[in-house]
Amino acid sequence: MLTVNAIAATSATDPLVRTTVERRDLGPRDVLIEIRYAGICHSDIHTVRGEWGTVPYPLTVGHEIVGRVAEVGAEVSRHAVGDRVGVGCMVNSCRECENCRAGQEQYCLKGNVGTYGSLDRDGTVTQGGYSTHVVVDEDFVLRVPEAIPYEAAAPLLCAGITTYSPLAHWNAGPGTKVAVVGLGGLGHMAVKIAVAMGAEVTVLSQTLGKKDDGLAFGAGDYQATSDPATFEALKNRFDLIINTVSAPIDMAAYLGLLRLNGTLVSVGAPPQPLEVPVFALFRNRRTFAGSSIGGIAETQEMLDFCAERGIAPEVEVIGADAVNEAYERVLASDVRYRFVIDIDTLR
Ligand code: NAP
Ligand code: ZN
Ligand code: ZN
Repeated sequence: MLTVNAIAATSATDPLVRTTVERRDLGPRDVLIEIRYAGICHSDIHTVRGEWGTVPYPLTVGHEIVGRVAEVGAEVSRHAVGDRVGVGCMVNSCRECENCRAGQEQYCLKGNVGTYGSLDRDGTVTQGGYSTHVVVDEDFVLRVPEAIPYEAAAPLLCAGITTYSPLAHWNAGPGTKVAVVGLGGLGHMAVKIAVAMGAEVTVLSQTLGKKDDGLAFGAGDYQATSDPATFEALKNRFDLIINTVSAPIDMAAYLGLLRLNGTLVSVGAPPQPLEVPVFALFRNRRTFAGSSIGGIAETQEMLDFCAERGIAPEVEVIGADAVNEAYERVLASDVRYRFVIDIDTLR
């Protein structure tokens, strides 16, 4: 067992604190990763604040992890010491069910093992990436191309794949009109990736405060959702809407923006239900859908796509002691556009 430095939540209301966590001894198929950067996802905040259900405190969160391979088990063949690697939202799955066999481990019918707060195979609770080291089965470790700046690579492991997967599944590309709701961590990656896929992209943000950034990320249009005229002007327009908002939104208003056969995909995960008025779906034969992260092979595909296209998240690197303040800024939609913890400040 390896005892390593970490940051943990001890309750839904107390600030996160420095502590240590235990990492298991390296099994034959395990990889020990020395973590360099860990992104702060809004899911970390929903989780530690108990918004999604019971939390096994103390809990170390973080599922946007990049670092170097420090040691490998005897049977590891996919990764070598020194490789630059990443870990996202899951660290294992059953590998046998229909969905796992289809490469959709995120939808494992027995439930994937989440990077934090999940029951691991050895009966312990998994602990995430706000930590100096992690031990992960090699099949759930991704190769992070050197072309992606180190500190910017971490958010791809959740924000990147969570937006890439639905954009790819619903065929964002030349000739399609895509709207992205919410320009935060996920939203700004949705814009960059959809633009790289060739789609015509509109940002729907609460205000016009980040308009210059949105246009610089490649969006062709940027509208404020606080202005009711936006919903009138854009009605029946989009083939695909990616909703990244962490709170409930007025579904009737947003569904009204879909053209014939259009789809609104919610990747945002507010604790409260989204109310979908069925008559808003009847018009234009619209679809309301959800999507969860992406499979391991698809995550590798996304990393390689971003490296090839020169796409990287916009990050603000912080020290370990600034995490609580960063959480407050994320909650205030004051993030440009992902906080990333420099894990060297935890050593
Ligand atoms: P984030 O950085 O906080 O971005 C969310 C954005 O939503 C904010 O920047 C803001 O954008 C907008 N927003 C926030 N509160 C709002 C409100 N009350 N009304 C309207 N708009 C609001 O969060 P994130 O890390 O991108 O995560 C977004 C959501 O996705 C979270 O719920 C997270 O748990 C979820 N998530 C889901 C998956 C999945 O697999 N499906 C994966 C990762 C994260 P503007 O300032 O532009 O309005
Ligand atoms: Zn996440
Ligand atoms: Zn499975």
